[in-house]
Amino acid sequence: MDTIFYNGTIRTLDKAFPEVSAIAVKDGVVIAVGSDEEMLAMATENTKKVDLKGKFALPGFADSHMHLLIYGTYTQRIDMTNAKTYAEIKEWCKADAPKAREEGRWILGSCFNQDYWTDTNKMPDRHDLDEIADDVPIFLERACGHICLLNTKGLQVCGLWDEKEETTKETLDFGPDGRPNGYIRENTRLVPKGIIENFSIEEKKNMIATACQNALKQGIVQVHTDDFNVIGDNDVEENLQVFRELDEEVRLPIRICQQSRFLTAAGLQEFIDRGYKAGSMYTKHFKFGPIKIMADGSLGARSAAMRQDYANAPGERGLLLIPDDEIRAIYEIAHKNGFDVVNHCIGDAALEQALDAIENAIKKYPRADWRHGIVHCQIMDEALQDRFAKMNVLAYVQPVFVKADSLVVDDAVGSELAKQSYNWRRYIDLGVHMSGGSDCPVEPFDILPNIYYAVTRMGFSGKPWYPENAVTLDEAVRMFTVEPAYASYDEATRGTLGVGKYCDMVVLDKNIYEEPIEELLNTSVLMTIVDGEIAYAK
Ligand SMILES: [Zn+2]
Repeated sequence: MDTIFYNGTIRTLDKAFPEVSAIAVKDGVVIAVGSDEEMLAMATENTKKVDLKGKFALPGFADSHMHLLIYGTYTQRIDMTNAKTYAEIKEWCKADAPKAREEGRWILGSCFNQDYWTDTNKMPDRHDLDEIADDVPIFLERACGHICLLNTKGLQVCGLWDEKEETTKETLDFGPDGRPNGYIRENTRLVPKGIIENFSIEEKKNMIATACQNALKQGIVQVHTDDFNVIGDNDVEENLQVFRELDEEVRLPIRICQQSRFLTAAGLQEFIDRGYKAGSMYTKHFKFGPIKIMADGSLGARSAAMRQDYANAPGERGLLLIPDDEIRAIYEIAHKNGFDVVNHCIGDAALEQALDAIENAIKKYPRADWRHGIVHCQIMDEALQDRFAKMNVLAYVQPVFVKADSLVVDDAVGSELAKQSYNWRRYIDLGVHMSGGSDCPVEPFDILPNIYYAVTRMGFSGKPWYPENAVTLDEAVRMFTVEPAYASYDEATRGTLGVGKYCDMVVLDKNIYEEPIEELLNTSVLMTIVDGEIAYAK
């Protein structure tokens, strides 16, 4: 026996012993659960005893969709998440300007959302940003990650200044003077990002290590993270080196399920040809998860692909980022090689395209166990949900999104479709495997607030948004423990604190099952345990 955790209120989420006070661990695995007396009686002289001091514990939290590396890069920028006005954004950038000028670098900001501002909700253009500085390039990324703003200098530095509306292949908006207005969308973001995000391997390692430490503070023991081809092209081998070296140096304290992103079928084929196997462990804490693709954009940018026109923009239906034949090819290649695909779909047209492609792949290459999933699955009517559930596709949802999205969805798609969408209650009732994530850095990866939004559906305005579509507290907790383990084929080894599973555990300062739901926002993580070892203690 290596360690006994005792004197706790441990909710195991395991049917055999739902609540115990003590857990015995050997080689990182739970070997027995029960009362303090029973467990302590098993101790030998070398057993470490950890007193949980009556506190409440759960299986360690997992985030089923986020971007660890992008989050890492955001730690290098001005965080605009909490800006209440555009005036504040201006002030912060102005304050950074002298240093940026001196160091010959850009002014970088992320996570702004103009919908939250109280002084204006207008998206700033290059003229607005030029008022901050016209001799230093400025790059601001919206919280959704689909829109960026550049000032004139920024457009010039990254070679977009001379693009013409009639001939450009970029996703750029133009002003009345025929020049780009500084508002860039989707893949065009990669043009400035290619310049800004030119990190060395050491820099990437430090950013990921910091990100993991911050995740531990939130009780997170596993992340499903999307890190390939997101801050540079063809960086798979380099990023694998980053994770490999970190794990070898014992600097990768949490489990990584890599949602391996590829932009084309050819890129995916090349990856598979190099011998990488679905579900295999690359290092102790790094596992190859599903292939990640992105079928559409975001609601805020009106680039989510819809079957009907946007209610607030007749004639517009967003855009499918991958053509039908390409997406079919990606699913076929992945599926026949044992990989699943998780696909970013926000609009119902994207979702329908994905379900068609899954159906085609499973018919063509039958496979006993597959767990293709849809990340976000936001806009869909009940008929599409029924099809989704019947096919047994997994849902990866972000409860915290209702805070911001409650401000825009009804206007974007009309209330009839809005009230059917984001319907987590119905997904669970239909038996869908639904896990929870943050899409960090779109939203912070703090799990407890995310659980709060799943249960309350609280909108930014302070009113719950279609609260009848909410889930129960226990269902929400499972979305961040049991379900992410299922999504990474780890249900036999993780997700609950049953005997035979890894001892990954989070200790909280309150029993969230006995407190009013609002208390989730005031609950702290006291300890995070991975492989039976205390990886974080407050
Ligand atoms: Zn994402």
